[in-house]
Amino acid sequence: MDKSSTTEKSDKRDKSSKNRGKGVADIPKGRLVHDPSEEISLYYEVTNKLLGTGNFSVVKKGIAKGTKEAVAIKIIDKKRVKHKPEMLSNEVEILIKIDHRNVIKLLDLFDTADYLYLVMELVTGGELFDRIVERESYSEADAKEVMRQLLNAIKYIHANDIVHRDLKPENLLLETEDNDVNIKLSDFGLSKIYDNEFLMKTACGTPGYVAPEILSANPYGPAVDMWSAGVICYILLCGYPPFYNDNDAILFESILNAKYQFHSPYWDQISKPAKDLIRALLVVDPQARVNSTQALEMEWFSISTSSSEQPLPNQLKEKLTLFREESKIKSSIKASLITVGKKN
Ligand code: ADP
Repeated sequence: MDKSSTTEKSDKRDKSSKNRGKGVADIPKGRLVHDPSEEISLYYEVTNKLLGTGNFSVVKKGIAKGTKEAVAIKIIDKKRVKHKPEMLSNEVEILIKIDHRNVIKLLDLFDTADYLYLVMELVTGGELFDRIVERESYSEADAKEVMRQLLNAIKYIHANDIVHRDLKPENLLLETEDNDVNIKLSDFGLSKIYDNEFLMKTACGTPGYVAPEILSANPYGPAVDMWSAGVICYILLCGYPPFYNDNDAILFESILNAKYQFHSPYWDQISKPAKDLIRALLVVDPQARVNSTQALEMEWFSISTSSSEQPLPNQLKEKLTLFREESKIKSSIKASLITVGKKN
């Protein structure tokens, strides 16, 4: 059941008016705050503080000139990204309407000849997986809470006709440094911005999370996010990914056939309902895969067993640390391929 849905609406309005830039509270919901063809520098200072690097973008801290509020600004180099030329109409209107406690809010957007600037709500808690590694203990119940929020976020974006398409741990951020509970999904809506061929290449750049129907270039829909949620759930519970091989051909083959295992001893302590959720998500046929509503109705989310509160063995954190290091090496290789002009 979607526990958050009843309180969401009132929450949303407070947050959106608090977080947005100058004069935004007066703008009707679902409309762009500023004209995208205007200069971003009129409204925001783009600082040099780098918050992160994505596959084809850098994210910098920005300050709204009117309110002095801090924001995150994602700068997409248009020369490197094949994007939809028609995006600045309906698509952006859809993205700007997105407003959910577990989804990073897009506040504003500017489109220049060279760059696309997405002004977003700033989160300061860093990536979820880094925090798990730092924590003293981490339990199955903690993993369940993350999954509940992730599935609620997915349910919300799907209901708004958005497929994330690139769900992976790097896209799960934490709201603040002192709160390691509230996750925020970043990077949604790429399918509204980038063209399909480009997205396909990006997806195949991080194949470990990608649904079989994307790899086999079949038509795809929201079910691709459910597959990725299954991969994330698996990693949250054992610290390593279900599909992994240095050889891409073998990796693709295991994804296309959903060949994964719950290895002993790592999975011995994990409950059957948790494994049942993963089994229902990592299903090759997208029609047979559970959707977000069905996933949230599964037994794991309604039971509370004392064993699920027990810290998971340290090997989870050890494995997760190794996995994080490897992912970071990969991202830094990607980052070094990105060039962003001097004016940023
Ligand atoms: P890409 O789509 O190009 O992969 P992401 O949206 O994943 O880029 O952003 C890259 C990194 O930038 C994230 O992993 C995170 O560390 C940082 N980041 C992204 N959005 C925000 C935000 N709203 N607040 C703070 N940091 C962010």
